[in-house]
Amino acid sequence: MFSNIRWRIAIPYVILILAAMGGLTLYLSRLARDTQLADLEANLLIGARAVAESAVPLLANPEGDALDALAREWSALLEARVTIIAPDGTVLGESHEDRSQMDNHLTRPEVQQALAGGQGSSIRYSETVNYDMMYVAVPVTTAGGERLGVVRVALPLDQIEENVSRLRQTIFTATLLTAMLAAMIAIAIAERTARPVRRLTELARRMAAGDLDARLYRAGRDEVGELARAFNHMADQLRDQVQDLVTERGRLAAVLENMADGVIITDDVGRVRLINPAAARLLSVGPADSAGRSFAEVARHHHLIELWQQGCSQGQERVATVELDRQGTFIQMIVTPLTSAGVQTCLVILQDLTRIRRLETVRRDFISNISHELRTPLASLKAVVETLRDSALDDPPAARRFLDRADQEVDALTQMVQELLELSRIESGKVPLRLSPTAVASVVAPPVERLQTQAERNSLRLVAELPAGLPLVLVDADRVQQVVANLVHNAIKFTPDGGEIRVTAEWQPGQPEVVVQVRDTGVGIPAGELERIFERFYKSDRARSGGGTGLGLAIARHLVQAHGGRIWAKSREGKGSTFYFSLPVADGTGQGDS
Ligand code: ADP
Repeated sequence: MFSNIRWRIAIPYVILILAAMGGLTLYLSRLARDTQLADLEANLLIGARAVAESAVPLLANPEGDALDALAREWSALLEARVTIIAPDGTVLGESHEDRSQMDNHLTRPEVQQALAGGQGSSIRYSETVNYDMMYVAVPVTTAGGERLGVVRVALPLDQIEENVSRLRQTIFTATLLTAMLAAMIAIAIAERTARPVRRLTELARRMAAGDLDARLYRAGRDEVGELARAFNHMADQLRDQVQDLVTERGRLAAVLENMADGVIITDDVGRVRLINPAAARLLSVGPADSAGRSFAEVARHHHLIELWQQGCSQGQERVATVELDRQGTFIQMIVTPLTSAGVQTCLVILQDLTRIRRLETVRRDFISNISHELRTPLASLKAVVETLRDSALDDPPAARRFLDRADQEVDALTQMVQELLELSRIESGKVPLRLSPTAVASVVAPPVERLQTQAERNSLRLVAELPAGLPLVLVDADRVQQVVANLVHNAIKFTPDGGEIRVTAEWQPGQPEVVVQVRDTGVGIPAGELERIFERFYKSDRARSGGGTGLGLAIARHLVQAHGGRIWAKSREGKGSTFYFSLPVADGTGQGDS
């Protein structure tokens, strides 16, 4: 309680005032007592001298109790005790006591002094009255100088003591009042001084709790006011800096949150301190429950853990590409040891290389495929040309057959080059679509009709059955015919004699797209290949032996996607395949197909 500033200021004040007033009380009471004693002594001396003068004739001839009577007379006058003593110390007259009972008074100090030097005084405790008494004595001397005795006058000091004690009490009361007043003033002053300090403390607490807009108003011109202004200034600076930091942190968090690369920071004991969503996604963990766990628990892959351990423990950056066996994902991992403020942490960056790897594979496959595709017709051409040169020219019918073969090979090459060019133009967006509301029948019927002969040649039944009530679709009819032709052509190729190919379409009222299906009863596609058949040059091993470039489905996919649709396939090996693609319904066109 007394540790606060109010009491720290007030208590010394009060102690100081009490000490000063105490000293003053002592000094004043002593001074008052001394002055009163001096006055009393002077008065008693005058009285004693008067008694001495009147006692001269009786002392010259002492007789009976005359001196007792004189003592009593003066005692009544002076209101003091009067004693007349012979030069040998015998008491000759006494106002208050029985003289016969009194001892010799020669040894009394005031009597000694009076006999020696003309007057004497002494203060002693009197058993008779239980008070200190003042005794004053003067010698009784004749005109001739003969010493006849000593007159002593005495008064108790109770009155003086009483006066002094009253004075002391008054001063004490005044001291107490003054001390109380001083304490109140001191408390008020201390309170005034402490209030701004308290406000500052409160402000600092609010700021520490996060209220950075808290300020101190009504700052005076004194030192505390200066302090308050400096504090406000500091608060402004602090708020600005904190805001800058918050903005900076927000930016960094947004970058970390949205960056494609995974970022993980581990602490000196290998616990994950930070993990961004990309890293959590790559490692298939939840970002919330990963923080605080060990890196090994989060990574769960021995190559990643080894690399991280090497990078962190050896203090050297490590880079490696790791294939996560879980999803066939390729990750490039960069481990960078960081040391800040003497604490060793580790930064791990994970880059998803899966897409790049896949693109690389596609590119490699593309080159290998195109070389392969070119080599077969070229080899065949070469063989034809060599045969012609060596012998066949002499046999015109054989020469014509070889020339026909050569012509077919050149056609196949030309088709492949054309398809490649087409694909590259579609892929690069150089084929503009002329969209118009079109009946589904207009895009399905023409290619089916065109391929009918080829189907019949292969003893296949090719039918197109469109339900009634299909809406118009918003398409470039030529391009969609190309897609249908491609799918039907494939169906013919991959369906053994006697099979059936059926082209239909489906639409649910209210749906934004019509789905066209090309179903065959052919060889089917293995489940593992279904995903890949839409890639450029992809051909199943079975198909390799036959014709075809492996580009048809890639072109079909690009064309469908350019219309905003999707293309996919379902198949059961040995049972047949169904290819589906969707076309967008033309808005507000009503029903135009039948
Ligand atoms: P291709 O010129 O070889 O037909 P595509 O891109 O049209 O090239 O087809 C790619 C591969 O998809 C084919 O080689 C084949 O393996 C498979 N495929 C396509 N359509 C069918 C189908 N209807 N039945 C079985 N396999 C098919």
